This record gives sequence, C-alpha cells and structure tokens, in this order.
Amino acid sequence: MVVAIYLCHEQPDLYIHDASVIDSRPGAVVLSRSAFHPGGGGQVSDIGVLEWSGGCASVTGIETDGDRWWHLLDGDSRPSGDVLLHVDAEHRLRVASLHTASHVLNAFVFAEFAGALVTGAQINGDGTGRMDFDLPEVDNDRVRALEGPVNEVIGRGVDVRAVYVDAGDAAATEGLVRSMSVAPPPTPDGTLRVIDIEGVDRQACGGTHLANTGQSRPIVITKVENKGRHNRRVRFAFAG
Ligand SMILES: [Zn+2]
Repeated sequence: MVVAIYLCHEQPDLYIHDASVIDSRPGAVVLSRSAFHPGGGGQVSDIGVLEWSGGCASVTGIETDGDRWWHLLDGDSRPSGDVLLHVDAEHRLRVASLHTASHVLNAFVFAEFAGALVTGAQINGDGTGRMDFDLPEVDNDRVRALEGPVNEVIGRGVDVRAVYVDAGDAAATEGLVRSMSVAPPPTPDGTLRVIDIEGVDRQACGGTHLANTGQSRPIVITKVENKGRHNRRVRFAFAG
C-alpha cells in the first residue's frame, strides 16, 4: 500500500478548512481534501463536524478504501457540493498526547529490556491506550516503574519533530522500525516518516503527535498484564 503524506502531517494546526464532496452515499462522503487523520496502526481516526449548505453532521470516523477516505456521518444525510470540515481539536490533542507518551514509554521499554519490540498498540479516543511488548521474562513491577521516567520526559518539555528518511536507510538502522507487525508504509518517493523526540526516541510512525512533550498531561500505567509467553500488555491513561 502506498500512502501520500497526509494533509494533517503537512499542516498539523489545520483544524477547519473547506473542501468539496467528490463521492457520497447516505451517511458518508469522500472529500476533495481532508485534514483528518484516518487512523491506523492502532490509533483511532480523528472525529469532527461537517457543515454544508443544507445542514451539518458529526463525523464519527473514517473508513478507508484504498486512498479514498469515507467520512462517516451520524445519520443518513448525503451532502453534496462545497462543505466545511472541522477537526475536533480536543480529541486530536487527547490522542496525540497519549500517542506521544506511548513513544516515550516504548523508548524506555526498548532501552530497559534489551530491544523488546512492540507487538501491538491501541490509542483510544477516551484517553486510554495500551501497548503490547515482546517481553518473555520480566517482573511486571519493573515495567510499572517506567511511569516515573515517562512523566519526567513529559514534564521536561522535549521537542517532537517529524522527519523523512530514506526507507532503505531506515530499515538498516536498528530500533527505528520497532513494531513487529505494523510498520508504516513508505511515501511514494521512498521515504519513511520518523518521529524524533529529541534525545529520547526516534521511530517510524504515521500517527499524530504533539510538537512538544510538555503539551501532554502526565500519564499513569493502570495495568500490566501477561498475554501469552511473549506478550506483555501495558495499559495507560491520563493521570487524574
Ligand atoms: Zn507515533
């Protein structure tokens, strides 16, 4: 699958824009452009509101069909023509915060437990998430103890940047592509998007992230579970 660089990657602060409907069915539209993140790799999609001359509806998610993104509406309206798309900024911030925190957690797990890889991840819209790691024999309290170092990075306010690197070089750099199952696809020009949390973590990812870790609230590790011999599930949420 080849994916273009998303509009939300190029313009992360674009929350309202116009577009036109290029395809529709009752309760769903494909737009000429969209600042929504379509979700993927365990991250939920953006949500928001669509306005058109005949009304407005909530956009509850995205259903991808190749490079066509169906914006799913509540109700069965079938807008046409010019529309205004609003990204729900609070939802975006919540997901981007937890997602950024998950990179920091991942960095500490990778360093503390000798290159343990990610076997799964889920970042939800309700402020909770989980990551699964290939950790065969580790005391769960040692995993739980990483909450402090993660919050130290959040409190320190570390810059987060997206950079694009050659996909071949990325594959040869240990630790850059860290997921065992889901690696983000390269862009059409053969580059891979890498999220660089300065001095903390560098890994390939196509999701939404903060520009600085200090924009996130602190997190708590709510549960560490054994899910099979090689699978440790770490659940986390915002503190308070
Ligand atoms: Zn990410």
